[in-house]
Amino acid sequence: MPSRALPDLDENLGGAASQLLSQTIQINTVNPPGNERPLAELLVAAARREGLEANVIETPSQGSKRGRAAAWARLPGTGKRPPVVLLSHLDVVPAEPSGWAVDPFGGLVAGGYVVGRGALDAKGLAVTHLLAMAALARRDTRLSRDVIFLSTPDEETGGRNGAGFITQRHKDLLRGAEFLFTEGGGILLGGDDAPNVWGVAVAEKVPCWTRLTARGTAGHASTGGLHGPVPRLVAALERLRRMQTEVRVVPEVAQMFRKLAPLAESENRAGLANLGDTLASDPEFERRFLADDARAALVRNTVAVTVLKAGSSPNVVPEEAVAELDVRLLPDERCDEFLEQLRDVVSDPSIRIEPILAFENRSSPSDTELFRAVERVASEIDPGAVVVPRVIAGFTDAHYFRELGIVSYGFVPRWLPPSETRGIHGPNERVSIENLERGIEATVKILEAIGR
Ligand SMILES: [Zn+2]
Repeated sequence: MPSRALPDLDENLGGAASQLLSQTIQINTVNPPGNERPLAELLVAAARREGLEANVIETPSQGSKRGRAAAWARLPGTGKRPPVVLLSHLDVVPAEPSGWAVDPFGGLVAGGYVVGRGALDAKGLAVTHLLAMAALARRDTRLSRDVIFLSTPDEETGGRNGAGFITQRHKDLLRGAEFLFTEGGGILLGGDDAPNVWGVAVAEKVPCWTRLTARGTAGHASTGGLHGPVPRLVAALERLRRMQTEVRVVPEVAQMFRKLAPLAESENRAGLANLGDTLASDPEFERRFLADDARAALVRNTVAVTVLKAGSSPNVVPEEAVAELDVRLLPDERCDEFLEQLRDVVSDPSIRIEPILAFENRSSPSDTELFRAVERVASEIDPGAVVVPRVIAGFTDAHYFRELGIVSYGFVPRWLPPSETRGIHGPNERVSIENLERGIEATVKILEAIGR
């Protein structure tokens, strides 16, 4: 356990943040297997040094040598109002060193940046949350709400043994929270004359990962094998490839584009302001809108074939052929209902179709005190910025908390050019010390605004 004390927060916030972030990056938490426990211990120790109540929370650890755990800390308020939770995760995705200019687990601090796997996703967020709480802990006045820090294991592989476990077995740690912030949204730099966009994720698409399995009898391939599992699976996938999913605008998506419309190219402004009607009535607009994959994904279900497994030798007909699909549904849909549609399209009862990862994903309202607090802080520290309630095509752990009725927003106060967002799950992930500092200050301001 490194016991180096951090630089003084008041004197050198950026120094303290970059030093702590560098330490967290040096603890390898690639998931699988995760091994997040040493990192949870480091964050809990840092929180306690700053005077916060903090604990390591045991989570299921099968297959992990150094153990898995969550880090939890609390800054007590007066208790007049329910708590706000700051949620991040401890695990990271793998980093292939050959794509990196530096050691992804070296925790390098240089040229105004902290570089390494997790700098953005999500160790930088955990450090931002913790130091914002530490800064508030030094004040004489208390907020009306407790602020609860929670950083969980297992997010990158679905969160069942992290946020899922905590929300089922340790609801007490959340103490009846009303609001939550986590990853999923952030601030996109406008550039030139365009304003910055503060994207607050209020809804996510619904994952419905699916496995298709065709089975048959293994045998010698010299007699053809035309009806074997592989050709049947290929035919099924071809039918899925030709399937057109319906274009449909859910209210959260309509709201998002209405807000973004004034910033768009002039030819699209009117259409985006009234997305559902325009997509239905203006084929030229529809073509332009759907040509952008990121936009198109927000108005239809998507099916991506990502895994294929069958056979190992050219002269043997395998017993089994398997395909896995990354299916993402619009926020109000259910996986089991969509799988019925898939079965109709495949129309081959000999192929088994089953979900491998699926959950419902409620959305959070944007008409809340928390959203208004973000808007107020944006107008104060980033004049002219536009705050947009966003729907994201990815998913985070937010759904576990939305299921408990907690208003949960994906929002990280970090001003990123598109070039830096590519570091998320990619090589040379880095965050500027300036962004860490400004992010901590913005988090403090938002907490003050809702904690009066
Ligand atoms: Zn993440």
